[in-house]
Amino acid sequence: MSLREALDSVPRKIIKSIRFGILSPDMIRKYSVMEVTTSEVYDEGGLPVRGGIADRRLGVSEPGARCETCGQTHDVCPGHFGHIELVKPVIHVGYARIIYDVLRATCPNCGRIMLKDEEIKRYKERLDRLKGRWRLLAQNLQEKIKKKAAERATCPHCGYKRNKVRFERPYYFYEETENGALVKLDPETLRERLAKVPNDDLELLGINPVVARPEWAILKVLPVPPPHVRPSIQLETGIRSEDDLTHKLVDIIRMNEKLKIALETGAPTNVVDNLWDLLQYHVATYFDNELPGIPVAKHRGGRPLKGIAQRLKGKEGRFRGSLSSKRVNFSARTVISPDPHISINEVGVPIDIAKVLTVPERVTTWNIDALREYVLRGPEAWPGANYVITPEGRRIDLRYVKDRRALAERLAPGWIVERHLVDGDIVLFNRQPSLHRVSMMGHLVKVLPGRTFRLHLAVCPPYNADFDGDEMNLHVPQTEEARAEARTLMLVEKHIITPRYGGAIIGARQDYIIGAYLLSHKSTFLTKKEVAYLLGAGKSAEDPPEPAILHPVELWTGKQIISHFLPKDLNWVQPTAFKSKCQDAYTCDGDEWIIVINGNLVKGVLDKKSIGAEQVDSLWHRIARDYPPEVAGRWLDSSLRLFLRWLDLRGFTFGMDSVYLPKEAYDELDKLIESGLKKADELIQEFKSGRLEAMPGFTVEETFENKITEVLSRVREDAATVVEKYIRKNSEGYLMAKTGARGSIVNIVQMVATLGQQTIRGERIRRGYRTRTLPHFPVGDIGAYVGGFVKSCFRCGLSPVEYFFHAAAGRDGLIDTAVRTAQSGYMQRRLINALQDVYVAYDGTVRFSGSTLLQVLYGEDGVDVSKSDHGKVADVKSLRLWVR
Ligand SMILES: [Mg+2]
Ligand SMILES: [Zn+2]
Ligand SMILES: [Zn+2]
Repeated sequence: MSLREALDSVPRKIIKSIRFGILSPDMIRKYSVMEVTTSEVYDEGGLPVRGGIADRRLGVSEPGARCETCGQTHDVCPGHFGHIELVKPVIHVGYARIIYDVLRATCPNCGRIMLKDEEIKRYKERLDRLKGRWRLLAQNLQEKIKKKAAERATCPHCGYKRNKVRFERPYYFYEETENGALVKLDPETLRERLAKVPNDDLELLGINPVVARPEWAILKVLPVPPPHVRPSIQLETGIRSEDDLTHKLVDIIRMNEKLKIALETGAPTNVVDNLWDLLQYHVATYFDNELPGIPVAKHRGGRPLKGIAQRLKGKEGRFRGSLSSKRVNFSARTVISPDPHISINEVGVPIDIAKVLTVPERVTTWNIDALREYVLRGPEAWPGANYVITPEGRRIDLRYVKDRRALAERLAPGWIVERHLVDGDIVLFNRQPSLHRVSMMGHLVKVLPGRTFRLHLAVCPPYNADFDGDEMNLHVPQTEEARAEARTLMLVEKHIITPRYGGAIIGARQDYIIGAYLLSHKSTFLTKKEVAYLLGAGKSAEDPPEPAILHPVELWTGKQIISHFLPKDLNWVQPTAFKSKCQDAYTCDGDEWIIVINGNLVKGVLDKKSIGAEQVDSLWHRIARDYPPEVAGRWLDSSLRLFLRWLDLRGFTFGMDSVYLPKEAYDELDKLIESGLKKADELIQEFKSGRLEAMPGFTVEETFENKITEVLSRVREDAATVVEKYIRKNSEGYLMAKTGARGSIVNIVQMVATLGQQTIRGERIRRGYRTRTLPHFPVGDIGAYVGGFVKSCFRCGLSPVEYFFHAAAGRDGLIDTAVRTAQSGYMQRRLINALQDVYVAYDGTVRFSGSTLLQVLYGEDGVDVSKSDHGKVADVKSLRLWVR
């Protein structure tokens, strides 16, 4: 029998529907094995009081004792519910809203729904039609019915003119009399009213009367959960510590007793009402201790008690904390740090971690010698082993084995050795928040000294990792299937192109880019020694290319070395960041265009546009997309090491002279800022004299603000052109900005020219004092400086007022990012929960669980984005190049 057949022969039950109801008082009494009648818990001898909350009939939580209901011990008996008869009924806070809905929609006199007979008939028919198939539409209709019934003041059935019911969270109900006074409705009255509503009318309100009568939402009997739900702990000192729920139940019983005595002795109504309200308070906080508008119930120490709702709710609650997620074994977590020498597919694992995480390996005749070595070395020395499992399934802890040699000798095929993590093992590596597929990828272990995980710099973008203290998690797959999947599906090099937008997310950045630029520059010539260094860094096993210059010394160009590592059949043409007006790649002189012919970089410099991550139509994207992942991964590994080595050999540094501007530049900048300020002044004059005309759809003030912001923001843009004109074209600052390695012209402008207009939420700064932003300005000033225009630059130094505005704008940006991440995080959670069982079926359709069709073709075009050219099936430009 095949597995399928075997599964099909198992009788199956299918859940057709789930119904939620409320337990009736009778039901609670039937479930109950005893009534809890006393607030005493233990007697002087420390034994449970009969009829108390720790009664043995409810079940037992300590070993040895036997349950008095079923006679079983605590590990077999799940416990049994008891009950408390409440002297006066109280509202169940969880159902207060439903009580309110029913009260509003029904007549307090006859209990009928406040709708005319013909309306009832019409709604009933519509509801019946919707109920089976369109649950949400039925719900909408019920909401509509509730609203309609709530609007009517006179009962169409008995003609009673009712008063408005008011609900005050969490559990107070009032009736508004004609003269506007509020009369409190106590739970007893409410219960009577709700009990009058006929079953047929309840169905219109969305309540199934078979499982939930509205008066059951007002508790006359309270179920008491067994001790397993609220276990007590016996401390070593002999003192018993009770669960929060037990404390709460004792409070309820005590208050119930007091109320009972008060009623029996005929105490005045206000005393009874006070006790009744306290009973209500204790029952409410037993269910939920975070109710708005009422004080939180606390321990003597001041710690808030945990209600039933608090056990279930939130991140650490039963659902999110214990059921849909669990802590796992075979995992490790530590700080990450960079390592440019390892492969993108690798992760550096500290020896201390490699000695704890293990891989179970079955002994065969081929690996028995190696496994014996591991067992001999044991748990202390790496690479060793921590456990040995015999064919009978006995687990031997190597820490306590005296004669490891004898044990190693006994190893035979069929045994399992749990050996340490070694180089080449596949593991899963992950950084939270796990927002997309590439937040968790397969890495090959490289055991290294130190205490941090080592990560290749090019793999930072998919994880969104940096090294300012970020920590990451590592998981070791324990079965051959899991390891095979990780290796074939999850390995880093198979995820160079992201499923998010179909471009390379892994690629060169920062130092790699500037290194590549400098190496590919046409002024770069390399001696034999340098070539040897570089080819060594790239781990090339092939013969070096012939030198480009033979006399007087042999010299190689940087482009030759780069070409040495390119695939031999690669052809590509693309503009660089240095492209001028020249449009034809083949006739332009200089390095403005990249031309690769049969794997030879004949022209052009490398920059972010060609080898960087996240670039459309780039050299690197072609390699990643057109060659197998191994080839692309290998190219990236070797070329990135090569670029970095060249940066080491050549040297690259950034200092004050990297952003030097000559005097003429400053003259021009001064003029530019002056004219900007003058234009702003003119605008202010125009505005103050009332000559300024409002733009369509704006007030005059808004028009003025728009115009002055535009004028002042333009200053920095214009400054950028001046800086670009005068800055030395081979200065480090300019090169980094231009190649895309780090920073931009704007950063340089801010360093040497002007910070420009500071904005908060896209507007000039205007908050502060009533008529001005700071007391340093004249009253009523609306000029450039008051609005946060910063004339100075970082190198020139900021005035205190400028510094303040710059800090204010910076803080605004910080708050913005914090708010955005919180919002998108919560949205992500909701989306994941809503879409968790959507999958692409083998026929290419997208379905929900239960085979419900969502899309006939994945994404409506059937394209796997991570195997596409930015979402398209093929890139026409590169296809043309292939044909040529
Ligand atoms: Mg960080
Ligand atoms: Zn039992
Ligand atoms: Zn009525």
